Amino acid sequence: MTDKINAPVGGKLSAVKGMNDVLPPDSATVQWLEEKVRQLMARYAYRNIRTPIVEKTPLFVRGLGEVTDIVEKEMYCFEDRLNGDPLTLRPEATAGVVRAAIEHNLLYDGGKRLYYIGPMFRHERPQKGRYRQFDQIGAEALGFGGADVDAELILMASALWAEIGLSDVRLEINSLGQPGERLAHRQALIAHFEAHQDALDEDARRRLYSNPLRILDSKNPVMQPIVNAAPKLLDFLGEASLAHFESLQAILRAGGVGYAINPRLVRGMDYYNLTVFEFVTDRLGAQGTVCAGGRYDYLFEQLGGKPSPAVGWALGVDRVLELVKASSAPIELPVLDAYAIVTDIASLPHVLPVLQQLRGLGLCIQTHASTQGEMGSMKSQFKRADASGARFALIFGADEVAAGQVTIKPLRNAAESQFTRALADLAAWAGTLQSPL
Ligand code: ATP
Ligand code: MG
Repeated sequence: MTDKINAPVGGKLSAVKGMNDVLPPDSATVQWLEEKVRQLMARYAYRNIRTPIVEKTPLFVRGLGEVTDIVEKEMYCFEDRLNGDPLTLRPEATAGVVRAAIEHNLLYDGGKRLYYIGPMFRHERPQKGRYRQFDQIGAEALGFGGADVDAELILMASALWAEIGLSDVRLEINSLGQPGERLAHRQALIAHFEAHQDALDEDARRRLYSNPLRILDSKNPVMQPIVNAAPKLLDFLGEASLAHFESLQAILRAGGVGYAINPRLVRGMDYYNLTVFEFVTDRLGAQGTVCAGGRYDYLFEQLGGKPSPAVGWALGVDRVLELVKASSAPIELPVLDAYAIVTDIASLPHVLPVLQQLRGLGLCIQTHASTQGEMGSMKSQFKRADASGARFALIFGADEVAAGQVTIKPLRNAAESQFTRALADLAAWAGTLQSPL
């Protein structure tokens, strides 16, 4: 281990495959989305939770299920070098959120509505819309058993699509019923797939007896006919499960949220029961699921907590942003109010406190930086000012500095002429800018 850490120095280093840098200006689009989400969550009374990126490995094995894609082949697992603890980079956040809720007795005074934004890690084959580090935004409603909260979460996601200008995401829903109902379905599934052994791929054969429901989640095109012909879980549901599914649909219909029932929708983790749903699009090829979730009423018990119903969803930030870029969504990107041009390096001690004060009033200002003790020519500074996209150049020339003034030149509109203000009047000028504070 130490040998690896002390690898020879030198050579160019690159990022880990499937883990991307987000550079400006793209980072501004990500921030724009995150800001929309924060505002939306506040409107639905969901509060932010932040759990660690690393958790103990058994949390995911117990929480997600041993026979799942994630646990079988996608987790980044390692040993804590100091005490040998088995640790894992979180592949998803629901297990960690529930662990935290149990650990801190979060539900002692009733249900909690929570959301998170952050990176997840899965060792998958990197391709468009599928990365090894990717951001998810998720919402979890803990301690609520009613279909009204399932509906609330779905309505909240729909509101987000509207808010960010996405129109071609469709909602698919299904019910996985309760464990007892799944048992009867499981027997029927095994019988169906046993009768078509030859058509099963390797994954499916391996899962035939350990987790046959998972076979319905197969993305292998060759498997589709036999999967489509499989017995439907919906036909095995009892009255209570059907009633829950029906009340969800009644609220969605009343809310004008279109949906389709997809009897094959089972989701990739074992912790789901009753409602499951996905928002899908045809615009992203094979990576068409942008947001997915469902009810997980047994996860608290499975992780050693008091039984508590819960429901949530997670969306893939990369996939949503891909859709945003392809749409005509009005992304408000940050605009610089001003670019400060300073002709004489000796006047910086005089100028910088003035800019500090303007920034205190909420203005976004980029200051021309010195190189090797020089500020550079006026012409080169103007070029930078133009390229920065700022609305104004604040010119601190020798005359201005001597007179306690600044010249303000509008940069976005050639028809507007420049003017001069006393430093004492700058705050009043800043007030006229209606800069977003
Ligand atoms: P998929 O079927 O595409 O593998 P999943 O069922 O594994 O998705 P979830 O675990 O439910 O996905 O995660 C919720 C959302 O997170 C997905 O709908 C997707 O938008 C996003 N997501 C999942 N895995 C990745 C990944 N490797 N890279 C980028 N986004 C991802
Ligand atoms: Mg997956």
